[in-house]
Amino acid sequence: MKKYALEDELTKIKGIGPKSAALFEKLGVKRIEDLLYFYPSRYEEFEEPLPVRELQSGALKAVEVTLQGEPVFKRFKGRVMTTVIVGDVTGNIRAVWFNMPYISKTLKSAVHYVMRGNISAKGGMMEIIQPKLYSRQEYQLITGRLLPVYHLVKGLTNNAVTKAISAVIEDVEFPEDYLSLKERRELGVCSLTEALKTIHFPKNKDDVIKARKRLVFDELFTFSVKMQLLKSNDKEHKNGYVVSEKNSEGGSVLEEFKKSLPFELTKAQSLAVEKISKEMSGEATMNMLLQGDVGSGKTAVAAAAMYMAVKSGYQAALMAPTQVLAVQHYGKLSPMFEKLGIRTVLLNGGMSAAKKKEAAALIASHEADVIIGTNALIQGKVEYDKLALVITDEQHRFGVKQREALSLKGTEGEVLPHVLCMSATPIPRTLAIILYADMDICVLNELPAGRLPVKNAVVDPSYRPKAWNFIRNQISEGRQAYIVCPMIDENDTLELENVTQYVEDLRSTLPPSIRIDSLTGKMKPAQKDAVLEKFAAHETDILVSTTVIEVGIDVPNCTVMLIENAERFGLASLHQLRGRVGRGSNQSYCIFMSGKFDKDTMKRLEVMRNSNDGFKIAEEDLKMRGPGDFFGIRQSGEMDFKLADIYQDSEVLIKAAQKARELSEEELAEMSERFPIHFML
Ligand code: ADP
Ligand code: MG
Repeated sequence: MKKYALEDELTKIKGIGPKSAALFEKLGVKRIEDLLYFYPSRYEEFEEPLPVRELQSGALKAVEVTLQGEPVFKRFKGRVMTTVIVGDVTGNIRAVWFNMPYISKTLKSAVHYVMRGNISAKGGMMEIIQPKLYSRQEYQLITGRLLPVYHLVKGLTNNAVTKAISAVIEDVEFPEDYLSLKERRELGVCSLTEALKTIHFPKNKDDVIKARKRLVFDELFTFSVKMQLLKSNDKEHKNGYVVSEKNSEGGSVLEEFKKSLPFELTKAQSLAVEKISKEMSGEATMNMLLQGDVGSGKTAVAAAAMYMAVKSGYQAALMAPTQVLAVQHYGKLSPMFEKLGIRTVLLNGGMSAAKKKEAAALIASHEADVIIGTNALIQGKVEYDKLALVITDEQHRFGVKQREALSLKGTEGEVLPHVLCMSATPIPRTLAIILYADMDICVLNELPAGRLPVKNAVVDPSYRPKAWNFIRNQISEGRQAYIVCPMIDENDTLELENVTQYVEDLRSTLPPSIRIDSLTGKMKPAQKDAVLEKFAAHETDILVSTTVIEVGIDVPNCTVMLIENAERFGLASLHQLRGRVGRGSNQSYCIFMSGKFDKDTMKRLEVMRNSNDGFKIAEEDLKMRGPGDFFGIRQSGEMDFKLADIYQDSEVLIKAAQKARELSEEELAEMSERFPIHFML
């Protein structure tokens, strides 16, 4: 009999009282099982000490040294600095500590120390900054080991988390493995118990890769099982909002809509609206993903769908991810619908209480047919009359819970609204059909005719004056420009300084008549909105930004995108950024400025230079990232997985989905009970 069961509270562990348990809970860890699945965010590696001569600045390294002089104290900017020269047979280095005057007492001459710290070069001498001290024996014990580093909250140390996990792992009833030995062999994965032990305490990098592979499989398999369950659940929902394809005179509603447009729909758009029309008039409720590259005209497809729903006597809602985008959609769609006798209202979190109330009344009374806003639209207080269609912009998926919450709002009881999710993230088809197995997928694979492809250039920073001059010329022709500035990791003050400095440099170089504004991640939403609105209204010529300029922003007059430190972005982000230009009738340009010219960087930027096609870029991305020797733990950007990366782990994803598809209904139901819930769908 083991001491701990998976469902036990953490307080069962010696040394964890209610106080620490409350801290763990902040990290989402409530029970013993959660602790097992609380993976390290990274590992700290203790390498063999290096000879002093081989040290290079800029890395965390260990050296084995003895004192070569006496410790010296200095006051430096209000801090006490202790320095001492240390060395081995190959050379000397200066060790530096801040605010640790007592360190000199522990330092003894003729004793061998291992010092581990960041190396930097200062005035011709290498320094090791704030090094930790170990005796030779102490360091030998941890050499070559990987120690787990966990996400923490204030009051909880890494040591405390490590100790708790270690205690549990020694004496816990591990979850039963749902994969048999034979299945594990076929899949090339280790047992669940081994994986859970090893992910916390690996002996080496190979161990991490092995453990990770198993846990990634579980994540993707659980996900695939849920997809299968959703699919069978959806089949049970009859279409309660039948949208008619014909108008009262027997003509086609769709044709009616097309006539009202100032342009012809592309072939891809036409096919998409026909498919949507069929789904909304069919037996089952629609759940569709509309994938279309940036600029492919997804909004027009959304408008067609909303028009059809309204013509059948229902309401339709369009949800944008930000207020700026909601306002942008409202500005474009409301006049268009008004001409067709359809009333549109805007409902945004930022609106005054009175305005919100007014909008809510129009929605409840069904005076408003089309409702545009942010996710304020689905928050409890809004009552709809007959909401038959929900469209989300720049989102892959609309949560099951959200969908069910809206279903209660129909007058016809438990009826689910049709859902259309629009996304500009191109995911290769092989993966999309797995990740969106519960949805119909429709792809807009062409751009409206007459669009000029964006011209691309990959350059080094010495080209910057020319780039600025180029921007200046475009502005004198009446155009605008975006500049995306270097991002500095996890340091907001630096980030801000960076943009401020960049803007100052620009101002001192360009004529004062050029209006420059900036946007940073630190700004409040209202501030951001104001900056973007000014830019959209052409009250600003150049917008310098650190944050990725919001997806979906449509300023057709902006023709230049200059991306500084392009090497730091992934291909998908670069493509999204570039998608902000090339949206009007003027020729647009994208300048990728790279500070690095190694083979990998060049290969990636070459892809960007040679193609404007998001799906092609995604395929290339998939090939380049491939499986292989991925080491470590990283949050995946694409979806909410703890470990899995749909690109990196695409082969595992395909296997996991295959296995989930082979399950019978009973097995499926059983599986869904069995897994710890790690995602919200
Ligand atoms: P996205 O798919 O990136 O959301 P939008 O819906 O914002 O693209 O459309 C981009 C631009 O193309 C808009 O200005 C829109 O009016 C225009 N547009 C959409 N469809 C067509 C079309 N068939 N012909 C010409 N212009 C179009
Ligand atoms: Mg859009």
